[in-house]
Formats: sequence, structure tokens, C-alpha cells
Amino acid sequence: MIEFGYSLQTNRQIDVDIKNLRLLKYVRKNEPSVDWCMSCGTCASGCTAGESTDFSLRSMILMARRGEEDELMTSIFRCRFCGKCLNACPRGVNTRNVIYWMQQAVKNINAL
Ligand code: SF4
Ligand code: SF4
Repeated sequence: MIEFGYSLQTNRQIDVDIKNLRLLKYVRKNEPSVDWCMSCGTCASGCTAGESTDFSLRSMILMARRGEEDELMTSIFRCRFCGKCLNACPRGVNTRNVIYWMQQAVKNINAL
């Protein structure tokens, strides 16, 4: 096999017609400010849960937007509800509410 110095990567394209966005829709219905998130990451910089884990609200919202439920479901309960992100968010996203409704969505995922 000829070595060209590069290789093909796994396709990471997201087809939202196939991906299930039920979790995002549920959160949006209960806390519309989730749509104000611009993925700046400010909330993650001082996150209490992020100090000891790789938890990041920015990532959680991105996963919800991409329909990546599996990873979100294993991580969302790491939040400590300290509220630091609520004060930090420049877009005024009600971050704790977003996380709360994400957790509710995960608990009731089969009913969404
Ligand atoms: S409320 Fe949760 S996401 Fe926000 S800073 Fe605290 S631990 Fe992190
Ligand atoms: S600080 Fe606010 S706008 Fe920025 S990533 Fe976090 S939730 Fe989104």
C-alpha cells in the first residue's frame, strides 16, 4: 500500500433528518433560552463539575443539537447545580434550567 502521508478520516457528517432531535425539542419547549447558546464555552471555563470531569454544558448543548443522545445521557448528571455558569453566560441562557430539563428528558427518553 502506498503511503501518502495522510489518511481518510471517519465521516463525522451529521444528518439531522436521520438524527433524533427529540431531546433538544423537549428542552426547548421547557426552556427556550437553550437556543440562545452560541457555543462560546464561557460556562465551561469555571464549571465545578468540569474541574474533576470532562463535563461541559457547551458540549451538552452541542450534543443535543446534533442528536448525540448516548454520550449526553452518560454525562448530564455530572452537573452539581452550583449555578456558576448562570452568572457567566454572556447570552443569558438559563443554564441550570437547561440542564434540569435535559436531565428530565433523559429520565423520560422513551416517552419523548
Ligand atoms: S451549574 Fe452545573 S454546569 Fe453550571 S457551573 Fe455548576 S456544575 Fe457546571
Ligand atoms: S456560556 Fe452561554 S452561550 Fe456560552 S456556551 Fe455556555 S450556555 Fe452557551
